[in-house]
Amino acid sequence: MAPTMTRPSMTIAAQDGRAARPATPAPDNPLAMRGLTVSYGEKPAVFSVDATFPARSMSAIIGPNGAGKSTLLKAALGVIPRLSGDVLIFGTPIDQARDRIAYVPQRASVDWDFPTMVIDVVQMGLYRKVGLLGRLSGQMAAKARDCLDRVGMADFADRQIGQLSGGQQQRVFLARALAQDADLYLLDEPFAGVDAATERAIIDVLKLLKSEGKAVVCVHHDLSTVRDYFDHVFLINVRRIAEGPVETTFTAENLNATYGGRLAATHIDELAIAGSAS
Ligand code: ADP
Ligand code: MG
Repeated sequence: MAPTMTRPSMTIAAQDGRAARPATPAPDNPLAMRGLTVSYGEKPAVFSVDATFPARSMSAIIGPNGAGKSTLLKAALGVIPRLSGDVLIFGTPIDQARDRIAYVPQRASVDWDFPTMVIDVVQMGLYRKVGLLGRLSGQMAAKARDCLDRVGMADFADRQIGQLSGGQQQRVFLARALAQDADLYLLDEPFAGVDAATERAIIDVLKLLKSEGKAVVCVHHDLSTVRDYFDHVFLINVRRIAEGPVETTFTAENLNATYGGRLAATHIDELAIAGSAS
């Protein structure tokens, strides 16, 4: 039909962006997946996903509840098995890159029902470096305290983790990730259920990591902060819906494709308007 033939090129580009397979990842891509399928039962939670997360960037993984976001991160880390597909961390299989990754799990999935001191939680991030049989040197203990300081939790080092608020616990998990001196930081909904001050503290630390040349990939649920916080966005609903720079990819069309009818049209319009104004 004639109207279709004369569509402006931007519309065609957006459609292509959704349909096309991404280019082959460069060796310095912190995280890339090809044909990743993960299944807990008969129905895949993540189906044939291609994704490429850029270096020196903050990337958001976005999608509705149950879309497979946490599953995608866990499969990337190798903590749950893949049914098929490949994951490359800086161009190598996960086994060769484990010490370059730090992971902050979804907070709700961690249950501290035994007494553990905050400083010990952070030092867990250092065990991989010291070796299981190695002793934590004074230097390592100092490093753990320094990482707590970076997230504003230095005064809580000797408290029990279970006695902290959710936001304080989240800061401690971030301190543990910092202690790992990783090149790729994977965080699962780091801002979920935290207060505004903690959200600010976390985003400041993540932006600093990016400025140091690290890659940060967050599962993120708050669509209103995507444009402020992130450079790159990956939209998923079991399958890959779209990925690319926030400017060109975080569009009403792609959000509709990701959430189906589950987001109010007015909300999507607001996000799209915010985008065209910025
Ligand atoms: P998201 O993080 O996007 O909310 P998840 O990756 O946690 O989604 O879950 C994707 C799908 O896989 C959901 O349907 C969820 O119920 C299912 N799922 C997640 N973890 C498990 C598990 N351990 N066993 C069985 N099903 C699971
Ligand atoms: Mg999740």
